[in-house]
Amino acid sequence: MQEFTVKTARRCQFLDVTAQVRKAVTQSGVKEGVCVVYVPHTTAGVTINENADPDVPADIIRTLDRLVPRSGDYAHREGNADSHVKATTVGASQSIPITEGRLHLGTWQGVFFCEFDGPRTRRLCVQILG
Ligand code: ZN
Repeated sequence: MQEFTVKTARRCQFLDVTAQVRKAVTQSGVKEGVCVVYVPHTTAGVTINENADPDVPADIIRTLDRLVPRSGDYAHREGNADSHVKATTVGASQSIPITEGRLHLGTWQGVFFCEFDGPRTRRLCVQILG
C-alpha cells in the first residue's frame, strides 16, 4: 500500500489526486486488477467526478454546504458535525478497475480527495490489487 500526504488549504476543498493515483498504478506494474483509494479520516473522503470543469467540484461543495450547513441541530460538540456528515455522504473509499495497466476512468472523470474540516495535513492510501 502506498500512502500520500495531502495538504489542504480551506475548510471544504476538493483536491484532484488523479495524477498521483495513476502514477501508483503505473509503478505497481499491475495490468488487470483493482485500485482502491482510501482516506483514513472521519472528516474527509474521496469521490470520483468531473475534473475538466472546476465549476463541477465547486458546485458539489456548495450543494453539500447547503444540504448540510455548518451550524445546525447537531449533538456532536466539536463544531465539525457537518464535516462528519459530509464525509460519510461522499464515502471513505473508491474502487477503480485497472485494465491494460491503466486506471479505467472515463474521459471526464478524476479522483478527488474531499476535505471537509481543513485546512489540515491528511493521508491518502492507495492499494493496488492485481
Ligand atoms: Zn468531530
